[in-house]
Amino acid sequence: MNIIIFGPPGAGKGTQAKRLEAVHGLKQLSTGDMLRGEIAAKSELGQKVEAILDRGELVSDHIMVEMIENRIEHEDCAKGFVLDGFPRTLAQAEALDAMLTKKNSTIDHVLVLTVDEDALFDRIKKRAEETGGERSDDTVEVLRDRLDVYKAQTAPILPHYADQNKVRMIDGMQDIEQVSNDIDRILGLNKAAKAM
Ligand code: AMP
Repeated sequence: MNIIIFGPPGAGKGTQAKRLEAVHGLKQLSTGDMLRGEIAAKSELGQKVEAILDRGELVSDHIMVEMIENRIEHEDCAKGFVLDGFPRTLAQAEALDAMLTKKNSTIDHVLVLTVDEDALFDRIKKRAEETGGERSDDTVEVLRDRLDVYKAQTAPILPHYADQNKVRMIDGMQDIEQVSNDIDRILGLNKAAKAM
């Protein structure tokens, strides 16, 4: 089963994607984590994208599409994957469709976490405190820009998936566990799936 977890920055995508991997064995593919890994490793790509992430802007589509295309080939994605932070533009969504069609595969569900905008600011402030400011883009100023980018470039790809009847809305204001329960119910997954 292949899933996209969708929503604005701070909606809880990473938390839920990590849980889907731990409990259900669906591999979390976080493009943000991959890019931060490249930056930490000071790779050529990392040096190229560092300033873009600092500003909360988007890395170019061809870099991101190539990154995901290589990654979904890995054996650890055989059971399925959870895309966290990808696609973020219509071009990325269309490229994803094409690469999955080539593999005789598809996206099964797009899970949208909805969260009030005020709560996003509170959550990002909390995350910055908890991680000691590890992410340079977790500031009120950059979050404003990331939200603008989300509204202008990322949210508009939802109709693409709505047309395919794949969009499932989830109230991301609930407790983490309640959100997880909603996700499991929508995906038809049993809580103890991996242990069985
Ligand atoms: P995230 O951890 O998903 O919030 O991503 C952090 C930052 O990485 C974003 O603000 C972008 O600069 C960059 N990024 C992550 N995923 C993508 C993507 N699919 N397309 C373009 N830029 C991305």
